[in-house]
Amino acid sequence: MNVTYTKPLPVVDSLTKQYWENARSHRLSVQRCRDCGDRHFPPCDVCPKCLSDDQDWEVVSGRGTLLSWVRFHRAYWDGYRGELPYDVCLVKLDEGPLVLSNFSGNAPENARMGMPLRAVFDDVTEQVSLVRFAPE
Ligand SMILES: [Zn+2]
Repeated sequence: MNVTYTKPLPVVDSLTKQYWENARSHRLSVQRCRDCGDRHFPPCDVCPKCLSDDQDWEVVSGRGTLLSWVRFHRAYWDGYRGELPYDVCLVKLDEGPLVLSNFSGNAPENARMGMPLRAVFDDVTEQVSLVRFAPE
């Protein structure tokens, strides 16, 4: 764990509390609508498909494929200055939702669209574990 973590941290509220508890146990989860079954991420108060507010969290496999990635050359937060350039990736989970995240480290040398990835977790504080993606 990095005790001097200086990057932005999430605000854990009633909507996201279960997600962060699952992440702390290194389990990736997405919201699932109890009415229509739609799985979505990031979380929202109502289902983006049917507007129901009856939603739950579902732990997913953590497996997905790389849709795209981009290299940031500018630090929008001071905490990132020491890591420039850094990579941000867009992953389509096997269960459907898209997740915007980082690679575990820099983009893999052989990164390509459709590359299989798996979720790994970085325990950045005592309370917060952030998901990253590594080659499967
Ligand atoms: Zn729904």
